Amino acid sequence: MPMFVDTSPPGQCIFCKLVAGEIPSSKVYEDEQTIAFLDLGQLNPGHTLVAVKRHADNLLELTPDEAAAAMRTAHRVAHAIRKAYNPPGLTLLQCNGKEGDQTVFHFHMHVLPRWGDDGIGLSWPRKDPARDVLEQYAAQLRAAIAAE
Ligand SMILES: [Zn+2]
Repeated sequence: MPMFVDTSPPGQCIFCKLVAGEIPSSKVYEDEQTIAFLDLGQLNPGHTLVAVKRHADNLLELTPDEAAAAMRTAHRVAHAIRKAYNPPGLTLLQCNGKEGDQTVFHFHMHVLPRWGDDGIGLSWPRKDPARDVLEQYAAQLRAAIAAE
């Protein structure tokens, strides 16, 4: 996971400064609601971040329209990465909260070209609960969606 952590207050965060043009970035694309620029770390060439322009800490702070715009831009960047680098794989990574491995607290999504031997790993500790436990979880989520 990324080691850099931005501790700036909302509105003064590095991505807000980047959107405002106060700090340089290698911009790939922008539209009314989103901006795409190269991650400084470049886990692989073409590693791009898609951010919303308005400061929103994380996914839950986005409007539905901003969330859709971010995915549209990620889709566009994914096609550009395929055209430019033709990697055999591609990973989208979007982290929320410190415990969710977020390090810059302004919504963004990684669009990451992947190669079989690139050394990038994701720990995925499966719990494999029983079917009735799965149904309990699903019932909780259905109730939460119904209450929205
Ligand atoms: Zn910001």
